[in-house]
Amino acid sequence: MTIAVYPGSFDPITNGHLDIAIRAAQLFDKLIIGIYDTPDKRILFSTEERVDLVKRTVVRIANIEVTSFSNLTVDFARDMGAKALVRGLRMVTDFEREFEMTQMNRKLYPDLEIVCLMTGLQYQFLSSSLLKEVAGLGGDIKNMVPEHVAVALKKKLSSRQ
Ligand code: ADP
Repeated sequence: MTIAVYPGSFDPITNGHLDIAIRAAQLFDKLIIGIYDTPDKRILFSTEERVDLVKRTVVRIANIEVTSFSNLTVDFARDMGAKALVRGLRMVTDFEREFEMTQMNRKLYPDLEIVCLMTGLQYQFLSSSLLKEVAGLGGDIKNMVPEHVAVALKKKLSSRQ
């Protein structure tokens, strides 16, 4: 069985993340979405909330599992028995960052293959950080995230005001 991990902050999950997850799940027997459990002040949703939002998003995809992790990404991948690490690419700036991380991850765990999937055109300019900014200013995020994520985001932002 070929297992892949798809790590990220997912703060919160967007339709761009979902597109990558669906496509990766078709390439591998099992895809494990790993959510960074970091005490980063810029993170809006708690780790438990992010895990819950991702789980609800992929509930109908049988070969996707969701969990959080707090160690090095390559160590998480090794613990999960993964052969591949999936990342999504949107633009040149993503490429530069991913290329740098790949070289480091290769040094740390040479047996792990890094697989980058290109985003769909409609998700090219969609990021969780921009989404939060738009939502915070009352913009319409309807086609950018699953319905339950839009509801959670609205609730979270209004509780912070
Ligand atoms: P990180 O902090 O690791 O970048 P993110 O949650 O922002 O965590 O992203 C996780 C992965 O998903 C990254 O590889 C990122 O490039 C990818 N990603 C994020 N948004 C999109 C999108 N709209 N289309 C394709 N890939 C995306």
